[in-house]
Amino acid sequence: MNDKNISLHSYQAVWHPCTQMKHHEVFPPVCITRGEGVWLYGADGKRYLDTISSWWVNLFGHCNPRINAAIIDQLGKLEHVMLAGLVHEPVARLSERLSAITPGDLSHCFYASDGASANEIALKMSFHYWQQSGFSNKTQFISLQNGYHGETLGALSVTDVPLFRQIYAPLLRPAHPVPTPDWRFAEAGTTPEIHALQAAAALESYLAEHHVSIAALILEPLIQGAGGMGMYHPVYLQRAREICDTYQIHLIADEIAVGFGRTGTLFACEQAAITPDFMCLAKGLSGGYLPLSVVMTNDTIYRAFYRDETSQAFLHSHSHSGNILACRAALAALDILEQDHVIETNRKKADFLNQCLQPVREHPDVRDFRNCGMIWAFEVADPRPGFTHRFAQKGLERQLLIRPLGNTVYIMPPYIINEEEMELMTQGILRILNEL
Ligand SMILES: *Cc1c(COP(=O)(O)O)cnc(C)c1O
Repeated sequence: MNDKNISLHSYQAVWHPCTQMKHHEVFPPVCITRGEGVWLYGADGKRYLDTISSWWVNLFGHCNPRINAAIIDQLGKLEHVMLAGLVHEPVARLSERLSAITPGDLSHCFYASDGASANEIALKMSFHYWQQSGFSNKTQFISLQNGYHGETLGALSVTDVPLFRQIYAPLLRPAHPVPTPDWRFAEAGTTPEIHALQAAAALESYLAEHHVSIAALILEPLIQGAGGMGMYHPVYLQRAREICDTYQIHLIADEIAVGFGRTGTLFACEQAAITPDFMCLAKGLSGGYLPLSVVMTNDTIYRAFYRDETSQAFLHSHSHSGNILACRAALAALDILEQDHVIETNRKKADFLNQCLQPVREHPDVRDFRNCGMIWAFEVADPRPGFTHRFAQKGLERQLLIRPLGNTVYIMPPYIINEEEMELMTQGILRILNEL
């Protein structure tokens, strides 16, 4: 048992996400009481370096003083108000700022509370747009092999991770996964760029045949996160944009994991100089503090719903849409991104961490070591059964919160990580690799 305060009975009262609860008999959940910067402090008196930003959400550390101050200030004024018929300054300011910093003409923001809901909204909006624009055949979506867009039924329909999807298949819409541009799937001797172009050619031939029935293509720009941190060449995004234009198909960029600087640019789409028709943001949007997501779209799509009839409006809603505390957290996070020149600073940090990680890259058991912006990943060759759990457990023993995806080990630290913490993290990972 690695905590003092919570009985086994209370563990069972909490049904944890993405967890086989029976595994907690052997590996009980770690009780966290406090956080500061990259560190989480356990009830057991130990500390853990959050190498994965608490499921990729945290940008500027736990209990960041500037974000805390914004939320505390807001809490004294108003905690929440519905967003139908009412508006508040933080949501208006956030929408304008997001429109200003995202690529192209994404001038309208529709809010929800989590990433899966944002993707559901984009899918519904795309379908509904085509219905109202005389394209009633456009009722299907396409998505990429190994893509992940969330766990609700609509989002799961465009997700291609068998572990999450298979059992629910009878509940889901028919899937049309097209080949992934992820370079791990490239044939020997093929460059990432050629592989991406081959995947784009497969997309084009599929759409050439089926475009009449397709409303949108949804994808994760540059990095397929939950599918194993697969990385791909930006030329795929350029080609996908061109192909979608040719065949009148919306492009939905799911930047839920990669937005706000993760890939080295503020948004991943920038690296291909493209503007999607819908951009979905969540996770880091509120600095990782509070559940907040947004779908951004352009004026053409917005205008298709701007009619006299209520029934032609986009009537989707969530109780906590545009929560004011979450919006204040998001505004504070944007302030930090700008004031601290985070994109430039991260480049230097990434250089330093790449140097630290050199021995990991050269480790005999490590395959396909890769880095993009502030994400690193590699596979461990021929792991013994139970690898994922044992790696995570060894991590905790070495003060690291790290949770491999299958045999893919990845790190995605909060941007405020310092050099000493990066060295500690690397030494820990290297030790675990040698022990396993
Ligand atoms: C996490 C994630 C989602 C789902 O977001 P939730 O807030 O967990 O619902 C969707 N798409 C991508 C790319 C993600 O990484």
